[in-house]
Amino acid sequence: DPRLKAISEAIRVVPHFPKPGIMFHDITTLLLDHVAFKDAVDIFVDRYRDMGISVVAGVEARGFMFGPSIALAIGAKFVPLRKPRKLPGEVISEAYVLEYGKDCLEMHVGAVHPGERVLVIDDLVATGGTLSAAIRLLERVGAQVVECACVVGLREYLYVLQGQHGLNEKPLYILVEPR
Ligand code: 5GP
Repeated sequence: DPRLKAISEAIRVVPHFPKPGIMFHDITTLLLDHVAFKDAVDIFVDRYRDMGISVVAGVEARGFMFGPSIALAIGAKFVPLRKPRKLPGEVISEAYVLEYGKDCLEMHVGAVHPGERVLVIDDLVATGGTLSAAIRLLERVGAQVVECACVVGLREYLYVLQGQHGLNEKPLYILVEPR
């Protein structure tokens, strides 16, 4: 797809952020380029429009920057998967392990119904720990995760994650690998 080169080039790579040794992929520069931003959303929309998806679940915070546009275009609802203590209603929580420490994703009870077909979206996948927690959360309420999608996939993890047993056996779709 000829659009992918410009999408990739619009993502700024910032060395040593937020700590020494980390190459941070900054998707806010993609949002500044309205053509590349729209192209990224359009590619997702073309892929998911006829897959019977009724829920787009976005991971806080950068999944919120892509998920709602995709949801509106494919005729699905948007459900935010949030960090702890952000949602005011009754929630279910799923903890996960990070490189340094632990975190947790929460979802409102009743936002997603049993049997609904869900797309999980985030900006970037590295180890897949965050997406795996999102999948577990959605499966606990009886939803069916059709696929996980990210704008960026870090190459060193993709072989495992896109294999049969990565991400609880759910497919992973990424737009670009870092340059
Ligand atoms: P994982 O759980 O796959 O190891 O890490 C993915 C999560 O960490 C995503 O929610 C993503 O937003 C965040 N993340 C990790 N590294 C980066 C990065 O370089 N850039 C951005 N934008 N997010 C990152």
